[in-house]
Amino acid sequence: MMRLPKFRYFAPTSVREALRIKAGEGPDAAYVAGGTDLYPNMKRRQQTPKVVIGLARIRALGKLRVDDGGASIGASVTLSEIERQRRMRRSYPALVHAIEEISTPPLRNMGTLGGNALLDTRCNYYDQNYEWRQAIDFCMKKDGTICWVAPGSPKCLAVQSADSVPILIALSARAVLASPDGERELPLEELYANDGIQYLTKRPDELLTEIRVPKSDGWRASYKKLRRRGAFDFPVLSVGAAVRLEGERVAEARIVLGAVASAPVRALRAESMLVGSSLDIPAITEAAAAAAGPSKPMDNTDHSFLWRKEMTARWVAQALRELAPPRA
Ligand SMILES: Cc1cc2nc3c(=O)[nH]c(=O)nc-3n(C[C@H](O)[C@H](O)[C@H](O)COP(=O)(O)OP(=O)(O)OC[C@H]3O[C@@H](n4cnc5c(N)ncnc54)[C@H](O)[C@@H]3O)c2cc1C
Ligand code: SF4
Repeated sequence: MMRLPKFRYFAPTSVREALRIKAGEGPDAAYVAGGTDLYPNMKRRQQTPKVVIGLARIRALGKLRVDDGGASIGASVTLSEIERQRRMRRSYPALVHAIEEISTPPLRNMGTLGGNALLDTRCNYYDQNYEWRQAIDFCMKKDGTICWVAPGSPKCLAVQSADSVPILIALSARAVLASPDGERELPLEELYANDGIQYLTKRPDELLTEIRVPKSDGWRASYKKLRRRGAFDFPVLSVGAAVRLEGERVAEARIVLGAVASAPVRALRAESMLVGSSLDIPAITEAAAAAAGPSKPMDNTDHSFLWRKEMTARWVAQALRELAPPRA
């Protein structure tokens, strides 16, 4: 049985108190929300904080509000709570669908949207217990010097695998971060860096407090996840797509690929190809082929990376077909 290492635990009741504790403890401290990512990582000695700052008692982080202006989702709102919220289901069905695809109901009862957005990157050579990793002399992401996926690579290529992220970015969501210097808001997309180790642009002392999703007016969105087991599995490829139609024509489009790099990837050429089209089969086929261009999966998850690359165009096409207006 894998055991947690020893650590000190704090349970602040306000954002200010959490930030004060983090500032005092520095890099030895980690925030924890539901703990469904952090605690398994600690058991495998992938993350080894000496101090854990629990966020569950901070009420401000657990608020969920949806109205005509959009949705404001506190970082500690659980995935189950989002699934249950009727107005979320009505206004953001693709986001709720993506959330329903995350792990299992008991884990979604614990896991939070903030924790999902900040999920550690994943790799077959890293998501192993300590002894397994020790047997291969570890790797660059933790305790070692080499990358076993691409030994010549100067950087880690572990994969961004959070289900909520591609669809949140497709919906133009924004993140709110708090630090001792105050609060800042940025497009969620800008929270990610294409580096398996430094995969967030967020400073370590910053606390994610909220995710804001603009009103869904006029936008249609869809989410597609590729995985081995339907019951539960991390994505090996995912697609978040959203379009705004004016009449039967696409006025704006956003296509975001997940699990094919260390950060979510925008398929920008495919997006611009869709603008002005009527989302018919030829337009979808052409844009989906273009979307496969920036999809660069590596050989570090389940399934062959060549097949995952090949599946990108098909999965994007499926996501887009769901967005096409009904034809007479
Ligand atoms: C068996 C299993 C299957 C899973 N399947 C999936 C899956 O299919 N898809 C998927 O996306 N995920 C999956 N997960 C991962 C995980 O359950 C979810 O991503 C979940 O949403 C993580 O949320 P959490 O609150 O538990 O995160 P935590 O473990 O609490 O935190 C995750 C990270 O975010 C940091 N953090 C958390 N909240 C904040 C905050 N407010 N500010 C700053 N830092 C913060 C923590 O320090 C930690 O580094 C799976 C996990 C398990 C164990
Ligand atoms: S991509 Fe390379 S460095 Fe990163 S976790 Fe995998 S093996 Fe380690």
